[in-house]
Amino acid sequence: MGHLENSIMKNQISTQTVGQMEITTICDDIKKSQFILSPSGSRNEELGGENELNTVDSNISFRSANGSRHFLHSETKKLPKIKILGTGGTIASSGSSASQTAGYKVDLTVQDLLKSIPDISGICEIAYEQLCNVDSKEMNEEILWLIYKTISQDIQKYDGLIVTHGTDTLSETAFFVENTIDSGNVPIVFVGSMRPSSSLGFDGTMNLYQAICIASSEKSKGRGTLVSLNDQISAGFYITKTNANSLDSFNVRQGYLGNFVNNEIHYYYPPCKPLGAGRFKLNLDLNGEPPKSNVFSRVAILYAHQSFNSELIELIVPHYDGLVIATMGAGSLPEALDNYLSKLEIPVIYSKRSMDGMVPIVNVPNSINCIASGYLNPEKSRILLQLCLYSQYSLKEIRESFNGVYGG
Ligand code: ASP
Repeated sequence: MGHLENSIMKNQISTQTVGQMEITTICDDIKKSQFILSPSGSRNEELGGENELNTVDSNISFRSANGSRHFLHSETKKLPKIKILGTGGTIASSGSSASQTAGYKVDLTVQDLLKSIPDISGICEIAYEQLCNVDSKEMNEEILWLIYKTISQDIQKYDGLIVTHGTDTLSETAFFVENTIDSGNVPIVFVGSMRPSSSLGFDGTMNLYQAICIASSEKSKGRGTLVSLNDQISAGFYITKTNANSLDSFNVRQGYLGNFVNNEIHYYYPPCKPLGAGRFKLNLDLNGEPPKSNVFSRVAILYAHQSFNSELIELIVPHYDGLVIATMGAGSLPEALDNYLSKLEIPVIYSKRSMDGMVPIVNVPNSINCIASGYLNPEKSRILLQLCLYSQYSLKEIRESFNGVYGG
């Protein structure tokens, strides 16, 4: 008797109608909930039917309007297998009125979200797993490990992966994933929304639908970590949230990779990955529990301004392993502060307050611990420094890491 059969017998079954389909939930434990949707025309089996249940790693199945139940295996057409990893964010939120676009709460699962998208049963087979359900301001090392661990395992089993994520820190998670996971040919598509699901003009439905199409497309192979937002396809490595409210909230100075119009995916360039993708190897026991905290060294970000001095830095240096400073302009800090920082024994990354542009090496004090971030913004500089420290890089190697890829 297979894994799914066992779980079916142990859990209570409930059914709800969603458009053309019925979703039968067999396990509604949010942490463990998974389902697989397979195309119409595939083998139809009643729940508990032979063969299928032994092999489908799922605890939800779908039934189409004519009453036939569908499972994973299609004998006629081989569709890509896609898995959605749910983490929360505005895309999984609802407010109390159709006009509310702030102050809402995360309260929807991936399963809820899928109810609003059009029939995708001809595009791919979908599985999902709800890793957590939080606003992305709550993302922490424990969740990053969980995302890393799940993607590392699923990359072997699926043709494409999707991560639903809050937009506030989406670029940090995408940057972390692109740096630490060698995705081979499997696209990892991050998706979020700027409006909650209850609002007029909810953008999450289209963004998620597009993410599913992008993850399923042959054209997306070999492109690494992608972001699907507002009809644009971008590299997770480079994208930055530049507007706190607008639907067109993300920007990528290195250029969009493509766009999505009327069900067509247009890439502007042949497949390639950013320099530096997948170059940090984390020593993680994929079968073990994610560590609770202190996985990475502590790196603080400080924002420079007129009259900025060492007072605050002196307070935090004893408690941190590295510093990132959002400098004024292209590495500018008061001379006295440059002198102070160049005597510290921890790495200090000179990043920038300005959204665009870069910090060149010549603008940073000539001291081994003072390192230019190049094109990286403060939050990505922090992650790169954490990965360098995790890998026990020397100051020279940290410098080379920032310099090699980012011009720092
Ligand atoms: N507060 C949200 C978040 O989880 C913002 C969003 O998703 O758009 O990041």
